[in-house]
Amino acid sequence: MTSKSDILSTSLSNIMNSINILNDKIMKEVEKDSTNSDVMKSLLSERHIAFMTLLEKSEETVALLDDAMLPDEYQEKALTTIDYGRFSDEMRISYAGLGLANEAGEVAGKVKKYFRDEWKFSRLQNEVEGELGDVMWYIAVLAAEIDLSLEEIMKKNIEKLADRKERGVIRGSGDNR
Ligand SMILES: [Mg+2]
Repeated sequence: MTSKSDILSTSLSNIMNSINILNDKIMKEVEKDSTNSDVMKSLLSERHIAFMTLLEKSEETVALLDDAMLPDEYQEKALTTIDYGRFSDEMRISYAGLGLANEAGEVAGKVKKYFRDEWKFSRLQNEVEGELGDVMWYIAVLAAEIDLSLEEIMKKNIEKLADRKERGVIRGSGDNR
């Protein structure tokens, strides 16, 4: 799957490359004893168009970033919605850990009902979306309670799995393989 950010990043680097090539051509033209003004005009106009495209793509990139929910931003927002009451620090960790297991169970319950009660697929999507959101909330809160960043957790998990895939041990058992 290619994300929109991958496409934008490729197109930004392609435009930068063409600007570099155009700059080199312009410099070569300038270094010549007799500059061909038609060639120069067309090079400058090409470079102008490339700059305008770069600007347009940069604006798209900024809009994409504005719209994105970064993991640590989500975690920060999730933390503003906690109501621990009079829980001690230890109790907060238990609350988050047990809540996570509870919500994971709720996901399983919805999947069970999909088969047992012959739900429509769209109902499964709606119900599981809500429960996965609850799972995510508890993950963010538990991680914060023990000083872990969501983004770091995600990065390390992907690194671990990519490494296992590369070493051909993605199937198998054991936490440290
Ligand atoms: Mg729930």
